[in-house]
Formats: sequence, structure tokens, C-alpha cells
Amino acid sequence: PKFVYAFAEANKDMKDLLGGKGANLGEMTRLGLPVPPGFTITTEACLAYLADGEFPKGLADEVSEQLAKLEQSMGKRLGDPGDPLLVSVRSGAKYSMPGMMETVLNVGLNDESVHGLARQAGDERFAFDSYRRLIQMFGKTVLDIDGEHFEDAIDEAKNAKGVTNDLDLDADDLRQLVETYKKIVQEHAGRSFPQQPREQMDLAVRAVFESWNTPRAVIYRRQERIPSDLGTAVNIVAMVFGNIGMDSGTGVAFTRDPASGAQGIYGDYLQNAQGEDVVAGIRNTVPLRDLEKIDKRSYDELLQIMQTLEEHYRDLCDIEFTIERGKLWMLQTRVGKRTAAAAFRIATQLVDQGLIDMTEALNRVNGAQLAQLMFPRFDEKAERRKIAQGMNASPGAAVGKVVFDSYTAVKWSRSGEKVILVRRETNPDDLNGMIAASGILTSRGGKTSHAAVVARGMGKTCVCGAEELDVDTKQRILRAPHGVLVHEGDVISIDGATGEVFLGEVPVVDSPIVRYFEGELDAKSDNADDLVRAVDRMMGHADGVRRMSVRTNADTPEDAARARRFGAQGIGLCRTEHMFLGERRSLVEHLILADTDEERERQLGELLPLQRQDFIELLEAMDGLPVTIRLLDPPLHEFLPDITELSVRVAVAESRGENRENDLRLLQAVHRLHEQNPMLGLRGVRLGVVIPGLFQMQARAILEAAAQRIKAGGVPRVEIMVPLVANVQEFETVKQDIIQVAREVREQEATHLEFLIGTMIELPRAALTADQIAESAEFFSFGTNDLTQTTWGFSRDDVEAAFFSAYLEKGIFGVSPFESIDREGVGELVRIAAEKGRAQRQGLKLGVCGEHGGDPDSVQFFESVGLDYVSCSPFRVPVARLEAGRATS
Ligand code: PEP
Ligand code: MG
Repeated sequence: PKFVYAFAEANKDMKDLLGGKGANLGEMTRLGLPVPPGFTITTEACLAYLADGEFPKGLADEVSEQLAKLEQSMGKRLGDPGDPLLVSVRSGAKYSMPGMMETVLNVGLNDESVHGLARQAGDERFAFDSYRRLIQMFGKTVLDIDGEHFEDAIDEAKNAKGVTNDLDLDADDLRQLVETYKKIVQEHAGRSFPQQPREQMDLAVRAVFESWNTPRAVIYRRQERIPSDLGTAVNIVAMVFGNIGMDSGTGVAFTRDPASGAQGIYGDYLQNAQGEDVVAGIRNTVPLRDLEKIDKRSYDELLQIMQTLEEHYRDLCDIEFTIERGKLWMLQTRVGKRTAAAAFRIATQLVDQGLIDMTEALNRVNGAQLAQLMFPRFDEKAERRKIAQGMNASPGAAVGKVVFDSYTAVKWSRSGEKVILVRRETNPDDLNGMIAASGILTSRGGKTSHAAVVARGMGKTCVCGAEELDVDTKQRILRAPHGVLVHEGDVISIDGATGEVFLGEVPVVDSPIVRYFEGELDAKSDNADDLVRAVDRMMGHADGVRRMSVRTNADTPEDAARARRFGAQGIGLCRTEHMFLGERRSLVEHLILADTDEERERQLGELLPLQRQDFIELLEAMDGLPVTIRLLDPPLHEFLPDITELSVRVAVAESRGENRENDLRLLQAVHRLHEQNPMLGLRGVRLGVVIPGLFQMQARAILEAAAQRIKAGGVPRVEIMVPLVANVQEFETVKQDIIQVAREVREQEATHLEFLIGTMIELPRAALTADQIAESAEFFSFGTNDLTQTTWGFSRDDVEAAFFSAYLEKGIFGVSPFESIDREGVGELVRIAAEKGRAQRQGLKLGVCGEHGGDPDSVQFFESVGLDYVSCSPFRVPVARLEAGRATS
């Protein structure tokens, strides 16, 4: 294969092979934008290197060939003592992983070429500063030397001179620092700093390849669900210098505000600085707008390029650029990350600008973003004590205890505390703490700093650059203006949408998007902002194009009514077990204890009117829409007292010589019903087969409720569902009982009752024999919770605590299969059952009511296997509607 591509050979669709950076550098080159020349080594070369530990055959020759062309076009040779070509060696994977992998700048400098650079630039200080940066970066990333050694050395040099700023070190100081750095390399790497330019380059390429697998990159990928087998490309780019005087500089820019989506000029600029200085947020930048005063020509050209890029990509672009002595260079562009609110706003703006259509717009947003917009936010009317103003880096309302380091963040959050990670600035080593924290607060760095970029990517609340705060990580104190001291463990609240920081806990309220879904906020009214209007348009389009309907899992009329306001088109799962709890528990206890038929029937007779009333209310709330009611599922012992508690009570009573006959009988029953594996025991349809009258009572309550609704002028659409069926005979047994009950109810009520009888498919055997089951069942609803449990053979109640974290850490899972459907295993069973079921019974209605019904990724899968509906908790109904719409386009 071809391992190396010149920028001119690349384009934006080659991200798999060339990474995002390489593909887009190619695209910009083709657009005729000022990109420094260079070439890209493919991700395939990286994967081959990672597999074998050496460069694949042919790579070195291809690099030589491209390097020769680069040298020719620049009219300079790499590391030439007289006039050296210098290059940067930059990582760049398919998906952006900000700050997670390595980059080495100024490759090609050595003891001789540093003089050539000094002569050519007419600036000795600059040349030695560039050289010491190379040794430092190379030492850290290629030779694995702890960066502190270099930082200590530069601090010492400044102390010796009595200055505090790097810029106050002169050429001689830097020349000396280079010597010190070379000694550090010799001492800690056991080798001298390589003087051969090509050796420098090859070693840097290796280090970039290897940085694909650094622990922080691995964690980041897991968090972002980026596959671990993609590898990174490597970009070799001719160096341009932003640190060659005050007429030079480097910056980042966005074509729209990535936080709000508003159009305008957004970005940061740093004069006389190189590359990563801006992104790292180490020195304070000026707003991009100020560049107009500093260098109007470059500023105008940049704005022109930004417009070109936005129209070309038809989306928000983010950009890294450098100005070298008044000449603008584009170092990177990509379709930029954005907050959820910005995603919705930008998508509709682009439609209005005629750049994209609604179908495309729908694909520019997703269900996870909508879910984020539905988060609660701080109550503006509540009393709040604001202690600082930072930048609104990533929205959300986070409340938690202040911690000052990643370790404590992880430790406290594991013990159930909510924490806010407070740092001066974050770096990639803080990643674990950022994941554990509810929010992130920094005192330095702009919206493009590491903290801001990573937090936005993770959908985590972040306020950055709150400069009035003094973060003292050693004393573990946060000092705010007016003498306010916040100690570790004190509670603060941060608002990622406004950048405000409050002392103590601020109460939260519903988001306007939720109020909109509730019908309290009309998208057309003046009170609605453009975000509500954007969501409204997007939902309208999604509803118009989606094929699957969306139902809800609801057991109470209140939940049913809310879900209906949120757009639910029926109930996909009413779990009747809650109707057996609370005050009704004692009735159930008596039912279980009944030792004669009469007694049992008496208890069932007492439950019947209660259940009937439940169903009447539920059917009323969902009038006209299908309501799937599931017969009792959990094992009976769940309705009895805890075995240990009860044993103690009985033992104490006995020792006191008291006669507690009832407790004793109860204890016997608990023992009788006790199961080692209740999840695999007497539950679901098995209860219906074993306990006479139980399912009949429920069916009667349902059908009598339906009859009453009809008499009241309602339109009940009842679907009775049998849980945990593994074989068709079990289902058939229960079905015959229900049909018998229906006959009686029809006669008794003298009404014409229509209803369906179907089953859950939540055991592998049911999925594999779905054709037989479909002979008898009128609909299927996939119970993917139990289906996941039984397919993998792990208990849904125990495994998350027991070993899932280890599985996630080792990358065996990217995400828990209880959260997002395991397409290859559990999903395959769903597909098989859907096919077999439909082959047997034409038009068999298929739905899903496990938790996966509201998971955006799983909704996409259910569309692909052709289910008729998904059912999820009320709050996820809008998310499922949006995803179901996206799934069709
Ligand atoms: C399921 O198993 O997916 C299901 C919906 O039923 P439950 O969660 O009540 O077991
Ligand atoms: Mg189940």
C-alpha cells in the first residue's frame, strides 16, 4: 500500500487513512489556501508499526521521496547548516483527540543548523529558543524524560538572572540552556540528543505512532467511544514561526461561537508565540477581534478564509493559524465541536442560509445532545452568592464539593460525592478527575483551552478562565475576591452557560426545552428563544420522517400523561408490580400465605377492584392510544419481608415466649419461596402457570377497566403482555386462561371488547423459537434488559459493581451492554426473532421496551431491524423521537 500522501494528493474524505488533520490540510491545499507544504503518513502505517514495532517495508523510502519534494518546493534541505528546513511532526487521528497525542516542533535543528537559522532569521535569540524547545519536546515525548527536569532548568535560569518571564532570557541565556538541556537528555535517557535531522524525524514519527496508546489517549477514547483500533496518521509540515517577533503570533478561530452557535468572530490570539501555547492555555491570549488592530491585513485575510471554509464545509469550522512576520498560514481546520445548544441553533441557521436542507440539519444534531438540553439549570430567582465570573466553556448547572486534584475527584466521587474539579488549568493528566467530576472550574485559559475543549466533548459542565480566582492547590484553598475563602470540601455551584461561579448550593429548575415539551412554552411565542424554536423545527421534521413510533414505559396516570405531552404514542410497557406494593403489600402477603383455594380467591377478589381502578386511570390517560399492560413479572418473595429481619423477629418473639403465629407462617413461606437465583426462578409466565387465578385476576381487571372506559365513551386499546416466555406452550396455557376470562367479561359487561395478547421476547430461547411463538402471540415486545442478562449470562443487578468497571477499563466493553444494545449478540437475537416472527405471522407488531428503547445508538439499531416502535421512560421520549427521525435519513 501507499503509506505517504502529499497534501496536494489528499482531500477531506480521506479521514480514515490520513486522519482529520491530514485530510483537511489536503482539502485546504486544494482550495488554494495558504497551507505550509507537507505530507501525511497513513494510519495504516501506524497500525503496521504498532503491530510489529518497526516501520513497515517501503515507508522509509516513501518518506524520503516526499521529503525530497518538500525540500525542493521550499528550496531548503532538512537541517541544512546554512539555511535549514525545519518541520513539525504532528499526530492526527480520524477523530479529534485534543491534546491526547504527541507533536514535536522544530525538527531539523542541531548544533550547526541553529546557527544557520539564526543567520537566516537575523535573530539569534529566536534560533536558540527554537532549539531548546525542540530538545525539551523531543526529550519529553520521544525519550520519555519527565518534563519537570526541563521546566526546573528554565526556572533556574530565570532565577539566576532575576527575571520571571521567558521572554527576558536573551540569546546567551538560551544558548546555555541548550547545553543544560542536552545534559539532561544524556543523564535521563542515557544517550545524547540526536544531531542527525532525519534520525530526529524518524524517532519523532515513532513517538507519534506510539502516542496512540498512551494511557490518557486510551481513557479519552473509551469516554468518547472512539474505536481503539484506528491508529493515528502523522503529518510532516514545513515549520512556520509565530514566535519570531511581535509581528508574528499564533491563534485559533471559530466561524461561529461553539458555545451558543451565534454568528460572529470568535477565537484567541497570542502574539510572539508558538503552536501549542494557545491550546494549552498557558499564557493569556487576546480576543481574536484585537488582531484587527495588531495586523489588519492578516485579520482581513483570515476572515475571508473563514467564510470560504464555512461555505465549503457548510458547517462551523475551527481553525488554527500562525502569522509569521505578517504572513498568514493555516495550520489546521476541521468541522468544530460545539455544545448541544449550538448544534441545534447552527443547524437551523444553515438551513435558513440555504446551505443545507432539513434532512441534513437533522443529521447535524443527535439524541444525546437533546438529552443534554433537557438537563435542569440554576434557578435565577433563587438567592445566589456569586463569587466570580469566568467563561462559559461548556453548559450545564453543576453543584459539588471543591477538590483540587484528579485523584481526590475520583476518590470522592466513588464514595458517592458530587465534586467540582478546580484547577488553574487542566492538562491531559487530569482526564480521570474530569470524568469523575460533575463540573470543572479553571482560573486560566480561554474557550479553546484543554479544560474547555475536553469538557465540551464530554458534555460536562465547565467554567474556564475565572481569573479573579486564585487556585492554591498546595494549601487546597480557592481565594475569591473580597476575602472569600473556599476550602476543599466546601460546596460551590458553577453555571457553564453563563460562566458564573456561586458559593454554596444553588437550586436548579427545569430547562426551557422541558417546559416547551411540557407545553408550558410555545415555540411561536415571544418568550421562546431561538433555541426553543430550533428544537421545535427539528422535532417537527423528525416526526414527519420517522417510521417507528415512540411509546413510553409508564405505570401511573401521571407518568402516562407527561409522556403523552412529550409525544408518546402509547404505552409500550406498564409494569403491574408497583400496583402490588405499598398498602397493598399485606393483601399480597395474605395471597401468598393462602393455603386453601377459597382463601386465595378471597384475596384475589380484594385485589381485583384495586387493579381495575389502576387500569381505568391509565387507559383514560392514554385514551385512543395503545396501552401494553404486562402481567406480573417479579418473583413473589420480593413482596415478602426480608428473610433475615423476619428470622430475627421470630427468634426474639420466641425467646420472650410470645406466640407470633403469623410471623412464623410468613417465615415458612419466605423459606419456601426463597431462591438462589430469583432472576432465573419463579417469575413471569411461570407464576401465571403455577399460581391459580393470579393472571386471570389481572386479565379480568384489565378487561373490566376497558369495558368501563367504553361505557364512559372512551377508546381503550388494550394489549395484554405475558413476560419471560421461553416456549410457546407456556404462552398458550396462559393465553387460553385469558381468553376464557375475556369471554366471561364480555358476557358480564355486554360490550364488544377488542384486545391483543402478546408476549415479551426476553429469553434467548424465545428469540430462537419466535416462529412458533408467533403462531400464538399477536405481538412481540423485546425485553432487552433480560435478554442482555440471559444472553451474556450476567446478573443485571450485580455485575455493574462486580466487574463492569474492570471490563470498561480494559476496553472489553466500550459501553455497558445494559446501556447500549450489543448489536452482535443480543441485537442478533432481536433480528432473528423479528424475522422468524414476521415470517410466521404477517404484520406481527414488534416493539422494544427494555432500557435500550431510549438509547440513541440503540434506536438506530432498532430502525435497522424494522421494529414498529420503541418504548422508553417519559423523559427520553423526545430523544427517541428525534433519533427515530434521524434513523430514517
Ligand atoms: C426487560 O427485561 O427488558 C424488560 C423491559 O422487563 P423488566 O426490565 O421489567 O425485566
Ligand atoms: Mg424483563
